[in-house]
Amino acid sequence: MSGQTPVRASGKGGAALLEPPSSGGEGIVPVLELAEVTKTYGSEPPVPALRGVSFAVQPGELVAIVGPSGSGKSTLLHLMGTLERPSSGRVSITALDVAEMSDRQLAAVRATRIGFVFQMFFLAEHASLLENVGDGLLYAGVPVLERRERAAEALTRVGLGDRLAARPTQLSGGERQRVAIARALVGRPAIVLADEPTGNLDSATGQAIMALIDELHEEGATIVVITHEHEIAARFPRQIILLDGRIVTDTGRLDDTETTAADGRESSR
Ligand code: ADP
Ligand code: MG
Repeated sequence: MSGQTPVRASGKGGAALLEPPSSGGEGIVPVLELAEVTKTYGSEPPVPALRGVSFAVQPGELVAIVGPSGSGKSTLLHLMGTLERPSSGRVSITALDVAEMSDRQLAAVRATRIGFVFQMFFLAEHASLLENVGDGLLYAGVPVLERRERAAEALTRVGLGDRLAARPTQLSGGERQRVAIARALVGRPAIVLADEPTGNLDSATGQAIMALIDELHEEGATIVVITHEHEIAARFPRQIILLDGRIVTDTGRLDDTETTAADGRESSR
């Protein structure tokens, strides 16, 4: 367990509050940290989607989260992405505790620190690629010219630098997913979260998207990919296997495994 001090909850401006605690040089702050996180949906009857999940992702890691349908992967993605709050436990993004933040501050965290890639791409069909990607910077308050410049840069990075004016309707599935990845990267996020990014692609195209993800990782990006395909997960440096809302395997777990799943210690701090 790291001894990182949580964020100061003071300050009113989003930007000030989003400054990570100054690291006193005592080690790296994880990009993402979950501690004993649970999520239960509804009440009649309650559906436990996550039952006590803990792990940290360090800067530069490429992690696969694998599990069968219903194991809690999408729920986990929503919590990691601050789209939902946990029922209990703690989620921190770049050492900022999600529980301490208002909805407005969470929106700022999402806009500036997290890039999302979804199976369904979610592109605006009638807008150009440049606009689709540049719009990823709207909420971060980036002026239009800089949005365009950075969008062009991100599209070039995913191999679409010569298609800036094209519309998504003119693209193949693999190209659309490249646009979605460019949109996720354009805000220079601390972490990219991808939910089944190859789920709608044929296997050759899926391989090409995986190669792109590898490349981005080699360039230093921190990426978490959710997949139900063990074959895809197998090529990742770290795999977290989820079953029935619990982690059953984490190949990246360091040797501080004093705890196993059923450790019922008091976890509030
Ligand atoms: P996966 O992505 O691995 O298929 P999910 O996170 O979507 O798993 O779902 C985990 C469990 O939580 C499932 O039993 C699912 O039915 C339930 N669940 C997910 N989202 C909701 C929701 N919004 N309301 C009620 N139950 C949900
Ligand atoms: Mg899912």
